[in-house]
Amino acid sequence: MVLNLDKCIGCHTCSITCKNVWTSRSGVEYAWFNNVESKPGVGFPQQWENQDKWQGGWLRKINGKIEPRQGGKREILRNIFANPNMPSIDDYYEPFDFDYQHLHNAPETKTPPTARPRSLLTGQRMEKIENGPNWEEILGTEFASRSRDVNFEQVQKDIYGEFENTFMMYLPRLCEHCLNPTCVAACPSGSIYKREEDGIVLIDQDKCRGWRMCVSACPYKKIYYNWQTGKSEKCVFCYPRIEAGEPTVCSETCVGRIRYLGVLLYDADRIEAAASCENEQDLYQQQLDIFLDPYDKEVQAEARAAGIPESWLTAAQASPVYKMAMDWKVAFPLHPEFRTLPMVWYVPPLSPIQAAAENDQIGMDGDIPDVHSLRIPVRYLANLLTAGKEQPVELALQRMLAMRSYMRGKTVDGVVNTAVL
Ligand code: SF4
Ligand code: SF4
Repeated sequence: MVLNLDKCIGCHTCSITCKNVWTSRSGVEYAWFNNVESKPGVGFPQQWENQDKWQGGWLRKINGKIEPRQGGKREILRNIFANPNMPSIDDYYEPFDFDYQHLHNAPETKTPPTARPRSLLTGQRMEKIENGPNWEEILGTEFASRSRDVNFEQVQKDIYGEFENTFMMYLPRLCEHCLNPTCVAACPSGSIYKREEDGIVLIDQDKCRGWRMCVSACPYKKIYYNWQTGKSEKCVFCYPRIEAGEPTVCSETCVGRIRYLGVLLYDADRIEAAASCENEQDLYQQQLDIFLDPYDKEVQAEARAAGIPESWLTAAQASPVYKMAMDWKVAFPLHPEFRTLPMVWYVPPLSPIQAAAENDQIGMDGDIPDVHSLRIPVRYLANLLTAGKEQPVELALQRMLAMRSYMRGKTVDGVVNTAVL
């Protein structure tokens, strides 16, 4: 999946529809297989990106081998049934709904009554809500830096100390259905697997024994423990819908139409080399090198010989995902430095571009727009998407600026004039 962050409006429709379909059950009230975070912010669960804290993802050893930072049988023996790096409910939030009956039952007052928050765990009214799945909703760096994540204090001090320079963006997140998933490697029961036919990562509920090593090991913190069943659960990429030729629920209901689903062909023999590459900043390029050109005749012949159905080959060619990631190089993996080779990619946002462009606020570097004059810092985007390497992000932003200016040139009264395209 590729998500175009330039178009995400942070409406949370994707999260709500996903919740309604998959996690509106007892035991997973706090779980959001899809959530949308305002960035920069602490995220959900809090500080999920901080692997010094959670010890998730893969670690590259001096001998070049990679191993999950934790998990597997050895870890269980070492900790004798404890799992020290697991988030607690406080790192997520105490799930709540609203007491709508209060709107009917409240005594008469001068002001209208409000529906009060009520804990889904205790059923009691909550006087104070401590945390939530998007705690920084709509807040920029300046405000986010005052929340509990120490990293943002530093970011703010280093670069964006001034109120005028605050910025924010939305980051919708789901399981990355990684090519090299640590959740699979960390599970002592062997209950997690990546489906060969489409790469969807699933947990076999019959085999899961609730060790929760996957919860700790997943660097994206996208596995949730169901306290009712005693098993772990995660995004299933709406596999029943995919099997029926339908898009995932989050894609189908996305208001901004930001989500693109597609088929990518890849060479499994290159996965290990890519995941264990020495320099973190090369991980993005290494991941690109795994993917195969679906228009290449040799690749097609090999795919057919490997039993890949013709419909998948056609889908790979028709897929905008390959174009965005490989041809145009405008889509990037989220935190490639975790070394799981994530398969949900993002087009970085241009913000706020049109008003700034009209007011000549975007600097020029010769004939090329200076992307460093955009509001969202390239450095911040590079830290999210390319392990800190700025050049690929700069090129992507320049391409998007060029495309936007081209399309604006073809627009009459806000409608694209298809006659001149
Ligand atoms: Fe596993 Fe998904 Fe986490 Fe990747 S993002 S490690 S596939 S749970
Ligand atoms: Fe963004 Fe689409 Fe989700 Fe709305 S539904 S928050 S536009 S990804």
